[in-house]
Amino acid sequence: MAGDGLSILDAVREPGVASRPALIEDGHVTSFGELAAHVERAASSLAAQGLGPGCRAALRATCDIGTVVTFLALIELGVALVPIHPRLTDAEVRTITEDARPDLEILPFTFTGITSKKGQFFRPDPAPSTPLAILYTSGTTGRPKGAVLSRGAFAASATASEKNLGWLPDDRWLACMPLAHVGGLSIVTRCIHARRPIVLEPRFDPDAVLRAIRRERVTLLSVVPTMLRALFDADRDGILATLRLVLVGGAGAPCALLEEAAARRVLALTTYGLTEACSQVTCQPPRPAGTTEPGSGKALTGVDVRTILDTGALAEPGEVGRIQVRGPTIMSGYLAGPGEPLRTSLTEDGFFDTGDLGALDEQGRLFVHARRTDLVVTGGENVYPAEVEQTLEALPSVIRAVVFGVPDERWGQIVAAGLVLDPPDPTRAVALVVEASVRLAPHKRPRLVASVDALPLTASGKLDRARAIRELSPRLVPVPRRP
Ligand code: ATP
Repeated sequence: MAGDGLSILDAVREPGVASRPALIEDGHVTSFGELAAHVERAASSLAAQGLGPGCRAALRATCDIGTVVTFLALIELGVALVPIHPRLTDAEVRTITEDARPDLEILPFTFTGITSKKGQFFRPDPAPSTPLAILYTSGTTGRPKGAVLSRGAFAASATASEKNLGWLPDDRWLACMPLAHVGGLSIVTRCIHARRPIVLEPRFDPDAVLRAIRRERVTLLSVVPTMLRALFDADRDGILATLRLVLVGGAGAPCALLEEAAARRVLALTTYGLTEACSQVTCQPPRPAGTTEPGSGKALTGVDVRTILDTGALAEPGEVGRIQVRGPTIMSGYLAGPGEPLRTSLTEDGFFDTGDLGALDEQGRLFVHARRTDLVVTGGENVYPAEVEQTLEALPSVIRAVVFGVPDERWGQIVAAGLVLDPPDPTRAVALVVEASVRLAPHKRPRLVASVDALPLTASGKLDRARAIRELSPRLVPVPRRP
């Protein structure tokens, strides 16, 4: 494989690659050779607009051939992509563009807009440290920060994923989330790296995704847990069981969801990752469908994961600490002001502190407990929202639960819960929490509860905890203590 494997123009020079399918969208197959020709034209068009090595280009990144062609063209040019999620408001887009200061805003991009003929452009020989994408964390914990991810990070991430999952000759990966997230972009880089086809679904519509899986014989799929839930609800014909595997990450997957996957003979592999580590950090290895395995898997090859106590000591197996990650997939840093060097805050020995809390077991499997900022500390006891949420969600009629801390004079914080019920019934919420409390230690029991019709999600389909808390707080009512 030439270079780092991410250049499609290099890929098509390899024997047999040009005729392979590269992109499948709406039943239309684009071969590697055709895709490379599109990329070459796009690159010369973009170069004619002044883009070259070291530049940045903002693009409204959907999940279609136009976005993929532009992304691959920018890779050829040594230009960093600043993807803009299509659902962001104008004000949110401004926040990003003011921070990233792109040299060109390709907004909105039209594929037919590439007019230049097969043309010339300067093809740099980019170093592994060349920025490939600047990705804004979704901002659920504050103002979005631009994480600069290098070419080397994407190539290392593709290699590490490949070592874990392997590739079978007929593998095809379906992408159904905007390519504005590291999860979506890394499907593209992984598949280009391995010269494998990507099936593109422009948006996440469960029925359309299931139809595409069947029609295109898709084998690999990446989703967040809420997407898997929606797919199960729509999959009456066992289509998901035809996949080789589904990667489930981005948030903790409820046990009930993973058990349902096993019952449906869908191999759901949990994975833990984050933008700053160029997607996956840990992942379960493939195993037979119909089985479950606890945790989010082990560190991928080349990546070190450790958990650290507040004292700075390494946590013992099973003990909860701060999750820290080291390896070639870690970002170069966050963008700082104009002319400022990137902001990095690695430990002395090169670990990135993820802001998440978790434990490693004896076998090195990671169990993610909570984000440090979501932890509820009540009367000096730590309560991990995910644990209480899972207990509540195990009750029939509770579709979704969110648990958070509310300031309290006596205890510091007390536990509060928001519930989405089926059927909606605000008066039942209190009774349900009382019912769940028998399964929870006293400090973990919600003392306040509210019922809502739905919980807000982020653009990537994850629970928007900050907004949920803002919306729920005024509606909380006290839960009577058990006699
Ligand atoms: P922001 O960092 O701005 O709040 P975000 O959470 O959407 O936005 P991402 O990089 O998209 O940022 O998501 C990474 C986070 O998702 C992780 O730090 C972790 O909190 C959570 N996460 C990812 N995988 C898992 C998992 N398997 N289990 C639990 N949480 C997970």
